[in-house]
Amino acid sequence: MSCYAAVDLGATNTRALVAGPDGDERGRARRSTPQADGATVAAAVVATLETACEAADVAPGDLEAVGVGSIGPLDADAGAVVDPPNVPAERIALVDALCERTDAPVTLENDAVAGIRGERRFTDCPENAVYLTLSTGVGAGVAVDDHVLRGRRGNAAEVGHLTLVPDGRPCGCGGTGHWEAYCSGSGIAAHARDRAAAGHETGLDAGTLDAEAVFEATEPEAVLAAVATGPDGVPGGVEDDPLATRVVADAVRLNARGVAALAHAYAPELVSIGGAVALSNPALVVDPLAGLLDEGGLAVPAPEVRATQLGEDAVLRGALASVLPE
Ligand SMILES: [Zn+2]
Repeated sequence: MSCYAAVDLGATNTRALVAGPDGDERGRARRSTPQADGATVAAAVVATLETACEAADVAPGDLEAVGVGSIGPLDADAGAVVDPPNVPAERIALVDALCERTDAPVTLENDAVAGIRGERRFTDCPENAVYLTLSTGVGAGVAVDDHVLRGRRGNAAEVGHLTLVPDGRPCGCGGTGHWEAYCSGSGIAAHARDRAAAGHETGLDAGTLDAEAVFEATEPEAVLAAVATGPDGVPGGVEDDPLATRVVADAVRLNARGVAALAHAYAPELVSIGGAVALSNPALVVDPLAGLLDEGGLAVPAPEVRATQLGEDAVLRGALASVLPE
């Protein structure tokens, strides 16, 4: 029986899936992504795939093909991840490591490009659509006229590094004011810590601030009131944590700005949103977007905006879609 494998290399977790030719799942595995050099990360990816193969009762050498969806930036021609902002590795030679272990053809794509392939293969997806990931980083995969955009070296639509705030916060890539610096899990945490260090009123412990703690300390009603007051306003009568409310409100406001940029650039009918930040907090991260886009006065028809129907498997399913038979 022929088997295909998929790998999702994220900044936080690495997942692998083994499936039959119709995409029917045979086995899977997951482990934390080591915050280490490229060789260590590549070895962890191979080990995750081996565990998934064991669960599927198939030898890695018997796989037909392996699809990988990975954090970027990529040198897709060389099969490597190069200087990722959210993992301290200079170069992760994924394709060589996986080819060596499996002797199968290996396809490497940006994780969000894989995400849009997953939408197209496994959901009801229109021919013009964007998959947006809000996770440790921010990125997009785009289909226009029924065609997935890959771009030079596989880096099309690295929208996390679009400048949304001129001279704004520093981003992990070295730039400033980027979408990712405010709206990714790492950006939300860093933004909160910076505000706490600057003396913004909060009941949260600045030493242990992460995105989860920030979201837990506020409510949609307070956030939407803060969004309505603009970037510098302070809403009255808010009982939630003032710092958390402000940081999440900024993320909501800038997500709407970023999705508007995507709508103007690609004219999608659908923006499907995945990634842990969105999927863990849909009421704050996904639900307000449609209303904010309408208010923002788009020059093109507003796309439908929804959470991905593939949940946390969007990238994994997309990496699988890139190697399954038609
Ligand atoms: Zn950046």
